[in-house]
Amino acid sequence: MASPPQNLDPIDGQKPSESCAVVGFHGRSQAFPVLYSALRTLQHRGQENSGVAIFDGEKIELLKVDGHVYEGFRPHIEKNTTPKGTIGIGHNRYSTAGLKNITGAGPFLVNTSSGQIAVAHNGEITNYKEIRENLKGMGMPFFTTTDTEVVVNLISKEIKERGFINGLRNSMNVMRGSYSITMMIDNKLYAIRDPLGFKPLVVGKTGDGTVVASESSAMDVLGGETIRDVEPGEVLEIDENGFRTILKVPSEKKAHCMFEWVYFARPDSVIDNIEVYKTRYSLGMELAKEAPCVGDVVIPVPDSGRTQASGYSEGSGIPYEEGLFKNRYSERTFIMPSQAERDDAVRIKLNPIRSVINGKRIILVDDTIIRGTTTKRIIGILRKAGATEVHVRVASPRIIAPCYFGIDMKTRDQFIALRRTDQEIASEIGADSVAYLSIEGLTKSIGKSEKDLCLGCLTGKYPVKITDEIEYVQKTLE
Ligand code: SF4
Repeated sequence: MASPPQNLDPIDGQKPSESCAVVGFHGRSQAFPVLYSALRTLQHRGQENSGVAIFDGEKIELLKVDGHVYEGFRPHIEKNTTPKGTIGIGHNRYSTAGLKNITGAGPFLVNTSSGQIAVAHNGEITNYKEIRENLKGMGMPFFTTTDTEVVVNLISKEIKERGFINGLRNSMNVMRGSYSITMMIDNKLYAIRDPLGFKPLVVGKTGDGTVVASESSAMDVLGGETIRDVEPGEVLEIDENGFRTILKVPSEKKAHCMFEWVYFARPDSVIDNIEVYKTRYSLGMELAKEAPCVGDVVIPVPDSGRTQASGYSEGSGIPYEEGLFKNRYSERTFIMPSQAERDDAVRIKLNPIRSVINGKRIILVDDTIIRGTTTKRIIGILRKAGATEVHVRVASPRIIAPCYFGIDMKTRDQFIALRRTDQEIASEIGADSVAYLSIEGLTKSIGKSEKDLCLGCLTGKYPVKITDEIEYVQKTLE
């Protein structure tokens, strides 16, 4: 689903946000409890609204709710008004102020001459405006501005014109960008992953049926077993006998989003056979090799830098300590008008543990830095608590370019690393030194070569053609 504008929470909002999670179930037991648990497990991928589409024996029934999965669905569970049926898909969506409207929530459902089609989509179709205009020109109605509605309408038109397999193949050839999709056509369930494999998608089984989910951790929580990743370009058909490949759209290269391992995915997930936790630990170890530092203690920015800081500590031999306590119960704060209010919000959320910090040379480790404003506030907190030096070590390379594939990093102005040296960044955020991991260190830690990863936001070179990017470069040249 196309990404919304930025979340401005003073701590969490400084990180890029994922747009969505998708799940699907075909089994012998009721689908809703399975989809609900999987969506709760994948809440980190989208918190604004959620939905399920379940085949009730005659038709697909939709239920969409605002807010977190637990709070949103709870009243329906208590009143026993959740959709009934054993086949369904579900979706968590990330959104923010201005786009909280539930109309844009997934799954999307359309009635077509080929049946009812419901789609849950994680990703962003970069050429969706062009496809939308073409479809509108053919008389297809649109009720939202989301790219998921474009996906549903395109697939339905293509299937009608070319038949099922050729229609799907052509849709996948037409759509550019990232898409991991769970789809139902009446009582049939499908899983689709784009040919470059931007977003993760796994298939597995529970005692009651087959599950598809954005991350393997959902399978663990369901007490099931992950069988494998849905391969890039693959379409799976899922029924009471399990799953099978019905289509494979080939691609010479892959473009797995490196940020899934760096930040987005849960550390207990395994993506494309690579464990996220181990990768984060290894990022910290590599960083210690590439950017050594004389210091007394390694502390993480909680919670994002914890695993990487452990790795840095092991790699450097410098002790790891928790120097900042994060208050998990402070309310989520969105747009705050004044600098003083934003500083207060960070203080409420993060409190230093003075005995760890006072009189020490601190090595502060985080997974990534986008704007640098929160890091600056944290450094202020550490200095006030008596730190004699604060050295920042970032366990990913510099982010210098927008993401067009479903992550809410759209404008260049927000990137502190763009056109600044490490020294300039250090002086901007009040650190004694700043160092980032190299792209080589990143790819080595993930265990994939550059040609198999999307590194667009690190290099400005994208794996697919980006019209907006070309417009931006032209404007800059002018
Ligand atoms: S541009 Fe960056 S965040 Fe976006 S898909 Fe590529 S690696 Fe991931």
